[in-house]
Amino acid sequence: MSGKRQPQNPVIGSWQCPEGGTAVVRQASKRGRHFYTQCDCCGVNMGTGAARQTKIWREAEFQAGADVFKPSNVSDEGQGEALPAAREAPQSEPQGEPVGERWRPGEEEEEPQAKPAASRAPWVALGVGVVALAVGVLNG
Ligand SMILES: [Zn+2]
Repeated sequence: MSGKRQPQNPVIGSWQCPEGGTAVVRQASKRGRHFYTQCDCCGVNMGTGAARQTKIWREAEFQAGADVFKPSNVSDEGQGEALPAAREAPQSEPQGEPVGERWRPGEEEEEPQAKPAASRAPWVALGVGVVALAVGVLNG
């Protein structure tokens, strides 16, 4: 047979297969960029399931300098294997503060209102007195 249409992709890393063997990891160059593995115990496994692809993506030891692409169905985030991709990272809020509108240079210096400190002072003094009294009683 001469229908060998499958180009041999380079080995990009190694991965411990479910059988405990060491599989070489290759990556399809076509759309999806799925990993496939080959080991003595399992042969070639070209399964493209998200769980498997994610597992390989996370567990494989990729060779330094190898061109590794994240397969299309692998999610970087979250823990665990068969995650239903429900958990998206919270969108980072733009830090822009809505300055403007009310802020006028030069007019911000004055205090908005006189603090009602004067009317609160007696109560504070009373409170302190009560506390002091209580402490005195407890200590006495
Ligand atoms: Zn195997």
